[in-house]
Amino acid sequence: MSAATPARLRHFIGGEWRASDSDAWIVDVNPSDADDIVAHVPRGTSDDVRDAVAAASVAFEGWRATTGPARAELLYNWAAAIGGRHEEMAQLLAREVGKPIGEARGEVGRCVTILRYYAGEAVRTTGDVIPAQAPGALQFSLRQPLGVVALITPWNFPLAIPLWKTAPALAFGNTIVLKPAESSSQCAVLLAETAATAGLPTGVFNVLLGAGDSVGAALVDAPAVRAVSFTGSGRIGAGVAAAAAKRNIRYQTEMGGKNVAIVMPDADLRQAAVLTAGGAMRYAGQKCTATSRVVVAREVEAAFLDELRAQVAALPIGPVTDAAAAVGPVISEQSRSSIRDALAGMDGERIYVGNIPASPEFARGFFVPPTIVRGAAADSTLAQRELFGPVLASFAADDLEHAIALANGTPYGLSAALFTRDLRSALRYVDRIEAGMVRVNGDTTGVDPHAPFGGMKSSSSGTREQGTAARDFYTEIKTVQINP
Ligand code: NAD
Repeated sequence: MSAATPARLRHFIGGEWRASDSDAWIVDVNPSDADDIVAHVPRGTSDDVRDAVAAASVAFEGWRATTGPARAELLYNWAAAIGGRHEEMAQLLAREVGKPIGEARGEVGRCVTILRYYAGEAVRTTGDVIPAQAPGALQFSLRQPLGVVALITPWNFPLAIPLWKTAPALAFGNTIVLKPAESSSQCAVLLAETAATAGLPTGVFNVLLGAGDSVGAALVDAPAVRAVSFTGSGRIGAGVAAAAAKRNIRYQTEMGGKNVAIVMPDADLRQAAVLTAGGAMRYAGQKCTATSRVVVAREVEAAFLDELRAQVAALPIGPVTDAAAAVGPVISEQSRSSIRDALAGMDGERIYVGNIPASPEFARGFFVPPTIVRGAAADSTLAQRELFGPVLASFAADDLEHAIALANGTPYGLSAALFTRDLRSALRYVDRIEAGMVRVNGDTTGVDPHAPFGGMKSSSSGTREQGTAARDFYTEIKTVQINP
């Protein structure tokens, strides 16, 4: 437990720390220890939204006129400011959202990489010269910023997701209002602090704290907001998409998954088990790309599940400050009870249930034992709904085609893995699997920070984040012809 009095957080608007207009607070607790209050988060008001959007609007004219090389320097400065506080930010991240410290350190490192990558993008070629029908004319495409962009983000990658939206948006000349998840607000405050250290001009990057259903919804509806990039659950994402479409502003919604690993008879079963165990259970299964289903060829099912149980059992469960911990708590009591309810009502067989130690350091955390369930019905909650916990549902398949059909049999399509040594199986799977991110002999989680990231079907509204895909989202194309 932390001895310091928890902070009452303030918005970061127009380069200033501003108290909210409201005096209603959300309590942000450490998932490893519910007695440890990390911060009090203002619920926020519509006036707060108005002020944040106004600050970003005022800053836009100056920022769009700032040259690419100058923007790049500021993004490099921001990377350095985060790098200089690496360990402190990782510790806070671990404490606020329950991410084991090893992965929290990795996330901070990723932030530095993201900012450096987009600093480079700010000085790269962005348009094309297009041959003109008119004699002597010069025709080209120009990419221009959209204006004020609203970013609405989840708690599970509380630094990396806000930054992989913010960095490209800024690199291409937009200004930002970031609305982080309530339970990761302190991390967003650290982003604002480091942005200020980096010397970002006033109002270019604003952090608006508050409740999603009021402040988040009002932000999407704010007239000066020209685009919304949302990551979070499918239910909320569908509402954000509808609200943005109604205003005819650009939007992207990256949402949940029911990610699958397929294990073929010729796979290296040990490799498949190690990667599936980690993909399913690390960070208590709370990555959007976590493996929540495994489809195993019937002839190797028994052998694979034996190895899988051993590999899951080998993953240390612990409070997030424990350097060895791989599986920490889930984010909240509400999340723990909804996972318990889903398991209580399911029809499969629990073939592995981990052990949460009875010692005091586990007593106040939202720990859920890693669980593997075999043979749930293909249309059951366990097979179909994202639980966002350390729960893996296992199914048997007759052959590759059956496995792909089972894999594709959910509304989601975020990430998938296939374990095989057979090139034909790999090629067939890459062609037919319905997922935005697809690996062979790798796990379902993560993607390189410079590669396109996003899902198919209900996992996404169809755009991609990161890499050059981000440039497409955060810029508008103007086709220009200059005649003699
Ligand atoms: P969530 O949908 O509850 O909240 C996401 C954000 O939306 C938060 O900032 C929240 O305050 C805000 N919000 C809530 N109601 C709103 C409204 N009516 N209007 C506007 N904004 C509103 O999600 P969460 O619990 O924070 O995150 C977990 C979810 O995020 C999981 O479903 C996970 O799969 C998903 N996720 C997806 C990706 C991806 O890239 N596909 C990455 C990470 C997480």
